[in-house]
Amino acid sequence: MAKKVQTAITPTRTEDYPQWYQQVVKASDMAESSPVRGCMVIKPWGYALWENIQKSMDAMFKETGVKNAYFPLFIPLSFLEKEAEHVEGFAKECAVVTHHRLEEGPDGGLVPAGKLTEPLIVRPTSETIIGDSFSKWINSYRDLPVLINQWANVVRWEMRTRTFLRTSEFLWQEGHTAHATSEEAVARTEQMLEVYAKFAEEYLAMPVIRGTKSESERFPGAVDTLCIEAMMQDRKALQAGTSHFLGQNFAKGSGITFQSAEEKEEYAWTTSWGTSTRLIGGMIMTHGDDDGVIMPPRVAPAHVVLIPIYRKENEKEEVLAYTRSLAKELSQVTYHGRNIVVEVDEREIGGTRGWDWIKKGIPVRAEIGPRDMKEDSVFMARRDLSPKEKRGVKREELLATLPEILDEIQNTLFDRALAHRAEHTRRIDGKEDFYAWFTPESADKPEIHAGFALSHWCGNGACEEEIKNDLKVTIRCIPFEGEEEEGTCICCGKPSKKRVIFAKAY
Ligand SMILES: [Zn+2]
Repeated sequence: MAKKVQTAITPTRTEDYPQWYQQVVKASDMAESSPVRGCMVIKPWGYALWENIQKSMDAMFKETGVKNAYFPLFIPLSFLEKEAEHVEGFAKECAVVTHHRLEEGPDGGLVPAGKLTEPLIVRPTSETIIGDSFSKWINSYRDLPVLINQWANVVRWEMRTRTFLRTSEFLWQEGHTAHATSEEAVARTEQMLEVYAKFAEEYLAMPVIRGTKSESERFPGAVDTLCIEAMMQDRKALQAGTSHFLGQNFAKGSGITFQSAEEKEEYAWTTSWGTSTRLIGGMIMTHGDDDGVIMPPRVAPAHVVLIPIYRKENEKEEVLAYTRSLAKELSQVTYHGRNIVVEVDEREIGGTRGWDWIKKGIPVRAEIGPRDMKEDSVFMARRDLSPKEKRGVKREELLATLPEILDEIQNTLFDRALAHRAEHTRRIDGKEDFYAWFTPESADKPEIHAGFALSHWCGNGACEEEIKNDLKVTIRCIPFEGEEEEGTCICCGKPSKKRVIFAKAY
């Protein structure tokens, strides 16, 4: 029997994937659960990652003409009622504020008092309250388009939560735009999806499939929902971003009208689009290994950690001085438009420092001992390679090649994820094969199995429902790519013109 490899995370991915995920998050020190059920505390290492995601994405939004604004956390109940499908979609997970004061109760505790005449909803999403502002801002076709984004937190009361992937409160951005024509709004919906896809692939190194949601998976109140879907290492799909064409539905609900060039009163065409801290969960599950998180360099909170090593007190001063001066020099080097971020770990805790940074997923580690220092070099390791693979690198070489090394890591991560997706994507044409593929061998403790099935679907919601009930498999999207072809529905056998992506999903 092969000797079991020691890993920093137990259980490993193959042993218990959900448990592996929880342990990776914990070991990385990115976040922890909070006293409030379903909410998370995002710690500095996790928040710095989110800030990098924000910065990069925000710049991409602004390049398309979008401007940031901020709207209230509370939404009047009556606003949510303006769009029937919308309210139905969110009613089951709303946090509702009913009082505005606390009073001392009979047994000394505090009780809510001062009942509100109209309850307020803690925003689950802001279409309705932003729509109200739009109705005031927009009068003429000359006011259009309006292109707004807000960075905020939202609350959706979830019963089963998992850090970053599904939490009752999460951080996100929501874009909202209004246009004079349907064509323009559709174009904007597509444009923002492409921004998300580009961000996921180029920054998170997460390959995504762009497509349209089936009717049952659409955003409540939307005419069309576009999405990007990524395959995690347990071969389940993760919806990483959505962009909605809302038609005139929300404009009618909120009274967003404008005078056209022909002086006619018309309803505007609106869109909304969002991504959230869920991207962090997706990033962890795309790249993480049995030793912890692996941060793609372009979003990593820090790029390189320097670990000074000395045994004798008389070596300390010199090694520390050398390390600090190298840190200073490295932080002058630029990588992908920002300065290299260097951590120096001077903790005197022995050999666990290296492993701490492996678990955090920092792209590059460099140890500096008295001997390295004398040779003007460091002992370097990369997070995309085995923890044991280290090599001596001259100081000058490190300074000159670090950006290249980081790009290599970034590309390796993307290529690996793409290969993984290709390996576990299958065209399936027979119902029996389909059911067999999506049924785990071990029912009690399902092993990692299946993946993305490219199969024909007739377009009928009943077939989708049947498969969902039988296998917990859903249509992740109708991909933009892929030619029309004659086929038969995987469920009912009726004619179909296109393959869709079926998978189990987060
Ligand atoms: Zn069918």
